[in-house]
Amino acid sequence: MNKNCVLCLKHASPKTQPLGVYFYSDAHLRVYHAPADKGPLRTLLFESQRHFLDFTNMTREEAASYGTLLKRMIASIKQFTRAERIYSIVFLEGVPHFHNWLVPRRKGDKEKCIPFLEKDITCNEKNAVALAEKLRKKLSK
Ligand SMILES: [Zn+2]
Repeated sequence: MNKNCVLCLKHASPKTQPLGVYFYSDAHLRVYHAPADKGPLRTLLFESQRHFLDFTNMTREEAASYGTLLKRMIASIKQFTRAERIYSIVFLEGVPHFHNWLVPRRKGDKEKCIPFLEKDITCNEKNAVALAEKLRKKLSK
């Protein structure tokens, strides 16, 4: 844990749980629905349990867990949506603690790639929480 890191501090306090709480958690990763004002419905965030910057700092176990979970999460999002593509993005510019955005682009969306990400898309908080619950149920099986 890094006491200067907002993600480490969030992990340490049950009072700072994100929207829909962490609907998935294992020894290496936590997953939650992104805040409603940060992206379209079904935008998810993976956060590493341990404080490190990027893929070069992952242990073999963390890398294996990440790959397996990414595959399962993308399959689940596709099952519950009409997403044509799901963008997996790792910026690490704002907070230097590993986290990965999964952003779905639906078939009808005109923009793709960077122009899509530059759009000011938000979602409804109630729908985001409901989706997180569906994903929790799906992933607990
Ligand atoms: Zn951290």
